[in-house]
Amino acid sequence: MAEVKTQRLDSYLRLIDISRDLASTLDLDVLLSRIVQAAANITAAEAASILLYDNTARQLYFQAATNIDEPTMRGLVVPLEGSIAGWIVTNRKPVRIEDVHDDARHFGDIEQTTGFPTKSILGIPLITKNKIVGVLEVINKEQGKFTSTDENLLTVLGAQAAVAIENARLFQQSDLISEFVHELRTPLASLSTATYLLLRPEIEREQQEQIVSNIHSETLRLNALASAFLDLARLESGRVQFRKSTFNVMDLLHECSDVMSSKAEEDHIQIRVIEPEGSTLLEADRDKIKQVILNLLSNAIKYNRLNGSIILKTDSQEERVSVISVQDTGVGIPEDAVGHLFEKFYRVRENESKAGGTGLGLSICKQIIQGHGGTIEIKSKLGIGTNVLISLPRGGRTIPR
Ligand code: ADP
Repeated sequence: MAEVKTQRLDSYLRLIDISRDLASTLDLDVLLSRIVQAAANITAAEAASILLYDNTARQLYFQAATNIDEPTMRGLVVPLEGSIAGWIVTNRKPVRIEDVHDDARHFGDIEQTTGFPTKSILGIPLITKNKIVGVLEVINKEQGKFTSTDENLLTVLGAQAAVAIENARLFQQSDLISEFVHELRTPLASLSTATYLLLRPEIEREQQEQIVSNIHSETLRLNALASAFLDLARLESGRVQFRKSTFNVMDLLHECSDVMSSKAEEDHIQIRVIEPEGSTLLEADRDKIKQVILNLLSNAIKYNRLNGSIILKTDSQEERVSVISVQDTGVGIPEDAVGHLFEKFYRVRENESKAGGTGLGLSICKQIIQGHGGTIEIKSKLGIGTNVLISLPRGGRTIPR
């Protein structure tokens, strides 16, 4: 009995430490991974996970787990109806189950995808200011079954976690929004100057046409900026689910080349797609990978020279990794700029006047590729050209951590 009491005291002391730790971090990913580690720890469970609730889609999505890697997690959604997590959200009550397979609410799909067998579960709702943000679950008690003490401990941790998640989210949003507002200022200022000039009586017809054409391109750019920004905000918040399928990368490269061909022809740029030997099958979200390649192709055209060329290829040499490269004979990127290319809104000053853009394209590409467990890197020589290399795991089942 004395031993149990000491253990409990230990757990409470640990909880105080963890709470302090949680209050001091605003990086949402770091925060969530600390919470799941702590949850598994204090309840002596094999694994723990956090599912965040999407009120619009009425479903939950995995945001952190001690036993599932990020690419696998990206595709996992849990419906509100017919799942234990959904029940917790709807009823705002904790759940303790000894064997989930005896429980009608159990949603078996997750177990199948991750290959991680689930037996016992203890889950609690994450609530701040009367709003439900998600569910914290611990899975498989190492010995025996989850107790009411475990439930109390997890509830205390959950209350701290919910506040910390809300704070980190607000901070993230305000950061992103202030950057966005900053970016809006320049096009808005130029639109305002343009309309002012249009109203001046001394402006001639030819100049008027020029000004209207500037207004048109600035509005197009604002539109592109708004769409790209929304895209990136969704990707960064983890709310974008990747719908994976197996497809042939070569077909996709040809498709992308066709889409961009008229734009390339305008600048007399030739796009060549190089066929490799062997299979080029890849398991990924085809539409998202297409979005990445189109983005890179668009850059390779925009920052190319007249009569330049682009080589699109994929390498299937390595069994487990698929490499896609987009290489151009363009203006290249100064050495000191290469390290900044994936920063939001970053544009190379020397090339800014060469073509319009948002400075968000590469950040979006990086989010998509990293979300697939891949990498993206850029090699460039000024005046010679740029090569963007993407490596992606070719797929099949991703191994749980
Ligand atoms: P943008 O919408 O400005 O093209 P990106 O995020 O796609 O935004 O690219 C960021 C910056 O990187 C661009 O403004 C450009 O200066 C540089 N860049 C990207 N791709 C290339 C390329 N193929 N060749 C030269 N510069 C490039």
